[in-house]
Amino acid sequence: MNNTIELEDSYCAQNYKPLPVVLVKGEGVYVWDDQGNKYLDMMSAYSAVSHGHCHPQLIKILIKQANELNIVSRAFYTDKLAPLLEKACQLTGQDKALPMNTGAEAVETALKAARKWGYQVKDIKPEQAEIIACENNFHGRTIAIVGMSSEQQYKRGFGPFPAGFKRVEFGNPEALKNAITPNTAAFLVEPIQGEGGIIVPAAGYLAECARICRDNNVLLICDEIQTGLGRTGKLLASDYDQVKPDGLILGKALGGGLLPVSMFLARKDVMDVFTPGDHGSTFGGNPLASAVALEALNIIERDNLADRAFELGEYFMQALRAINSDLIIDVRGKGLLIGMEINPAKTTARSICEKLMTKGVLSKETHETIVRFAPPLVITKEQIDDAIDAIKDVM
Ligand SMILES: *Cc1c(COP(=O)(O)O)cnc(C)c1O
Repeated sequence: MNNTIELEDSYCAQNYKPLPVVLVKGEGVYVWDDQGNKYLDMMSAYSAVSHGHCHPQLIKILIKQANELNIVSRAFYTDKLAPLLEKACQLTGQDKALPMNTGAEAVETALKAARKWGYQVKDIKPEQAEIIACENNFHGRTIAIVGMSSEQQYKRGFGPFPAGFKRVEFGNPEALKNAITPNTAAFLVEPIQGEGGIIVPAAGYLAECARICRDNNVLLICDEIQTGLGRTGKLLASDYDQVKPDGLILGKALGGGLLPVSMFLARKDVMDVFTPGDHGSTFGGNPLASAVALEALNIIERDNLADRAFELGEYFMQALRAINSDLIIDVRGKGLLIGMEINPAKTTARSICEKLMTKGVLSKETHETIVRFAPPLVITKEQIDDAIDAIKDVM
């Protein structure tokens, strides 16, 4: 047994079950373990590493900024935050943004904004605001967020949870319509459910939800922490339905694979419910993170990573569908967010991931039956071919 694994297992909380590999180095789409073995990273840290590992331009900016100014808190202005927020708003068509660090914090920010907007703008009676989420959602791990979850394991042992949340079936606009009451402040939805198993709703679902929300003066808030920033073949997955949500949550790839950076973006009248002292974060919007995130956005735009994800995603999915194996029930996804569903009667997704690892491809199962393929968006066609060869072998 590897010493590092034993050491981590003895000191670290057992809240994950990592594959038995100890990574020591990364470059582009590749990572290396402590034995010198090279792997194609088909996970990219749940889409946080869309730019690839150790992107040279991002490293350059990181080091330059690290030598200038890093953490000062939002008690002061810095020269790096405004350019990041301006760029993020320009790219997404939103008016204003609030910077945080992790995805869960940005989701919490969205929930707080939605509730306060509900009271101040929509005139919902005190303490009555409702937020509607979807069955099978994943929005993070705080108490309020797992309280919204339908996944028993995320909640078991962690109650009681805050009131004011409901769930409706994902992919069913009628269900949303029926759940809305005069107290509904917002509908929170992932355009494609990532952790839920790469579930792609029918085309037009989000557009229909947007119409229902507009008709009922309910905010549509899209959690694009995983689907955003090019991952699904458009800058935002909501672009497929030509929907501009009232609130938008970004994270993961926003940090360029180097730092945790997230933000909640919204229409002016939504963001303006926040006043000084309402909400905050010591590290949110710090100049180091802001400099890196701005460059991360610039690279996504300049290198057309969304178009790249679209084309390579189609190619990858076609190749996966062409694999002749009765272990595969379904291949689905958009862009480079791909799920391969395994026949549970035959084997587990975990066992497939363990075998892929021995062939030099790193991935991770989501739930028991889905193998996720979400490589860095800088992957090449040839590298996808290598992955396909390994996957074919294993299947
Ligand atoms: C990963 C993820 C989150 C949570 O982000 P953290 O940075 O882990 O807190 C929230 N929503 C979605 C859709 C995610 O994929």
